[in-house]
Amino acid sequence: MALSVAASKRIFGDVWICMRCNCRNKGQKGKPPHKCRKCNSKKLRQRKKGKKKAAA
Ligand SMILES: [Zn+2]
Repeated sequence: MALSVAASKRIFGDVWICMRCNCRNKGQKGKPPHKCRKCNSKKLRQRKKGKKKAAA
């Protein structure tokens, strides 16, 4: 299951996670979205590239 660079960039590159409701928000190239599309929170973090976080 190898992802191409373009594919992984598309998947992980512009995705921001809301720190309040944990939903994913798509940003523009390199820029975070202004706010969460669900809860309108401005606390967003960029999704980590590569592997997913293991469930605690
Ligand atoms: Zn949110």
